[in-house]
Amino acid sequence: MDVRELQRYKQLLLAKLDELSATRAEALAPVMGARGPRGDLIDQAAVQTEAELQIHLYQTDSRLSRAIEDALARINRATFGACEACKQPISKARLEAVPWTRLCRECKEQEQNPI
Ligand SMILES: [Zn+2]
Repeated sequence: MDVRELQRYKQLLLAKLDELSATRAEALAPVMGARGPRGDLIDQAAVQTEAELQIHLYQTDSRLSRAIEDALARINRATFGACEACKQPISKARLEAVPWTRLCRECKEQEQNPI
C-alpha cells in the first residue's frame, strides 16, 4: 500500500474517532442530568432504560475507539492493511467500509467477533 493511500485511511480513521468522541459526550450528558428525585415511576423506568442503552452505546464506542487507535498505530508501524491472522492483504472494499479492521473477511467470519 502506498503512502498516499495510507494517509487517506489515516484521515478516515481520525475522522471516525472525532465523530465517536463527539457522539459519546452528547449521549452521556442528558442521562447524567436526568437522574433526580422527581418524576413518576414510568418516567424513572424510561430514564433507567435510556441510561442502560447509553451505557451499552458507550461500551460499544469505546471498543471501537480502541480498534481505531490500534489501526492508527498499525499505520505508523506500516503493518496496516494486512490481516493479522493469515497475513494476507485485506481487500480495499473491506478497508473502505471498516478501515479499523484487523482481519480479512475470511478470518473475520471464522472469528465471529462483533468488531
Ligand atoms: Zn485473514
